[in-house]
Amino acid sequence: MDDAAPAPAAKGREAGRHPGDGPGPRLRITEIFLSLQGESTRAGLPTVFVRLTGCPLRCGYCDTAYAFHGGQWRDVAALVEEVIALGVRHVCVTGGEPLAQRACLELLTALCDRDLSVSLETSGAMDVSAVDPRVSRIVDIKTPGSGEVERNLWRNIEVLESKDEIKFVLCGRDDYEWARAVIAERDLSSRCTVLMSPSHGQLEPTQLADWIVADRLAVRFQMQLHKSLWGNVAGR
Ligand code: SF4
Repeated sequence: MDDAAPAPAAKGREAGRHPGDGPGPRLRITEIFLSLQGESTRAGLPTVFVRLTGCPLRCGYCDTAYAFHGGQWRDVAALVEEVIALGVRHVCVTGGEPLAQRACLELLTALCDRDLSVSLETSGAMDVSAVDPRVSRIVDIKTPGSGEVERNLWRNIEVLESKDEIKFVLCGRDDYEWARAVIAERDLSSRCTVLMSPSHGQLEPTQLADWIVADRLAVRFQMQLHKSLWGNVAGR
């Protein structure tokens, strides 16, 4: 993230304190919206998304580059109330890389404290061990094709539990074979659900599906449901 840069207006609001914000911890937010969860084992569930601003990675296939900069500072307590006002049980904290902002941990705990079902989407480059244990952590493992494979924080795998999920986004056959080897060497499928997605426009979904079936891989194939429904647009 780029804390030193001035935060331009987001979603038509002025930067700086939001009306009603208190003196507590704050986070820079790109957007909050209600949609259907498009990925993970929660796919299809009405979900509130809280997209935090900033990411220290630059994956070649990134579809949320609009969250790299800008955003609006909001306090955690006000964010929680805004999420609850949207009236659904499931909330997904995403980015960008949400854990790049320290107060993300406080937001996650505050959401859990209100009996929401909380998931966190993270790049796998940040330590996830301090995340509230009630949160389902969806942790990427970056492949060579992403351009960010050296950012993987491998010790994250050791703290993942059955409620958590590991996600590979694959750019081609080389990535698939690399991921298959990582899954086998680290016995990932016995730890938690392992997700495999084709990188949009780089790998045909049917091709990936055929490879998984042929190899009888113990993974869950997934496509980005929200893109099938609404296309590649922000706020969906
Ligand atoms: S970690 Fe996620 S948000 Fe960051 S560059 Fe990669 S795909 Fe984009």
